[in-house]
Amino acid sequence: MVDKNFKDYMLSNEIVKSLTLLGYKEPTEVQREVMPLALERKDVVVKSQTGSGKTAAFGIPICETVEIEQREPQALILTPTRELAVQVKENINNIGRFKRVRCTAVFGKQPMTVQIRELKQRVHVVVGTPGRVLDHIKRGTIDLQKVEYLVIDEADKMLNMGFIEEVGSIIDAVPRNRSTMLFSATLPEEIEKLCSKYMKSPVRVEITPEALVSSRVEQELYEVERSEKFDLLKSVLYVEKPDSCIIFCSTKDNVDELNERLKDEGIYCNALHGGMEQADRLSMMKGFKRGEFKILVATDVAARGIDVEDLDLIINYDVPVENESYVHRIGRTARAGKSGKAVTFASPGERRYLAGIEDYIGYTIPRVEPPSREEAQKEKKEFITRLKDISSLKSDKTEVLSKDVTKIYINAGKKKKMRPGDIVGAITAIEGVTAEDIGIIDILDYVSYVDILNGKGRLVLDTLRNTTIKGKEVKVEKAEKPQR
Ligand code: ADP
Ligand code: MG
Repeated sequence: MVDKNFKDYMLSNEIVKSLTLLGYKEPTEVQREVMPLALERKDVVVKSQTGSGKTAAFGIPICETVEIEQREPQALILTPTRELAVQVKENINNIGRFKRVRCTAVFGKQPMTVQIRELKQRVHVVVGTPGRVLDHIKRGTIDLQKVEYLVIDEADKMLNMGFIEEVGSIIDAVPRNRSTMLFSATLPEEIEKLCSKYMKSPVRVEITPEALVSSRVEQELYEVERSEKFDLLKSVLYVEKPDSCIIFCSTKDNVDELNERLKDEGIYCNALHGGMEQADRLSMMKGFKRGEFKILVATDVAARGIDVEDLDLIINYDVPVENESYVHRIGRTARAGKSGKAVTFASPGERRYLAGIEDYIGYTIPRVEPPSREEAQKEKKEFITRLKDISSLKSDKTEVLSKDVTKIYINAGKKKKMRPGDIVGAITAIEGVTAEDIGIIDILDYVSYVDILNGKGRLVLDTLRNTTIKGKEVKVEKAEKPQR
């Protein structure tokens, strides 16, 4: 019998509280298997379908075991893309919110100075892309000596040609007596063999080994001439009327071109690929996750790990060249027990890739006939109307969790010798407020920020406005915008 409830894993109340607010009623299968092993600090290699909850499978044990008082990072998580690093960071921050676990993300193209500043403060968990993590190691701006968990998410991608050297150097820089955890939905045997080099008798966890892809993804295939793809795409969109859809192309240029063509047709969409400015990439991803627009045209940069609520349609406008990529792309739908549809457009020139994919997944993708042009045209109007309807934005889990949290700003910091104890003292002196109501405290050179939990922000603000800290007059106000 496996335990069915998060409470059965001896998790602290703060962690259980976050999970409850996140809407996690019971652990998923991979979480049930991995959590006890991770809590015992075993090395694990985990193969489990897309959307099965792998992030929390490592995120919960990491947050549970973090020593809050310790300044140096205790867990390092590597991901292949910046978007995924940000998402995993948000997941960890959400899970660790009430325990005050601090997690930061480091990735390329973001100012080094900001990251160095964050790393200098107390940070318990670091999530990063290999290149930038290695940069910080070389510059001596990250201290990995206290790392107890090394997680390699999307492990097969990370131990593959493009990344293996960097990842290898990072592994050499973390203490040997750590536990190492590898996760992916696709783990070829060679990779498993390779990683045994870095691990101590790892436990293999494989959930539903018989199927790479969840049966909740309805897969379809259109055999179509390259020149006919665009018309087919429009017909499929009109008929399917997705609420949220990713259209995958094989190159940046194809993405840009298709994005423009769709826009010219009055079909509102946005592009995401590695050639874009960093800020645009992140804001695009955020907008898409929030449901601010419904169609994202992307390269494989959006294929791995990205979690978008209620994404109901995936279109492979170009057949992926790598077999694994097919599994990851279509795994952006049908997550967390939901269902979804994935359609692939294969031109004669792409048949050989398709054959490879079908061989890899072990079955033939059902061929379907395109909807007739008249049939599709009839649906166009309704599709366009629905595309424009963004009245119900999706809730952001971070917002749900921080509903009760108020960030306050104090105009004094290290230069005025402000210490956490001073702030805690001033706040707990308020009647009706205890240390339990204080979240993360951030003391910078000239200013400080404090999270006030449990809806007590108003009370704290109103009281501190007319008070002194350490006998000094300070200005206390509600922080303008979230700092993390
Ligand atoms: P994977 O890494 O396996 O592809 P994720 O970790 O991204 O999957 O999780 C997929 C989705 O499932 C996320 O939206 C996550 O919030 C949700 N989820 C994870 N664990 C649970 C749980 N125990 N109960 C309900 N939803 C969960
Ligand atoms: Mg994942």
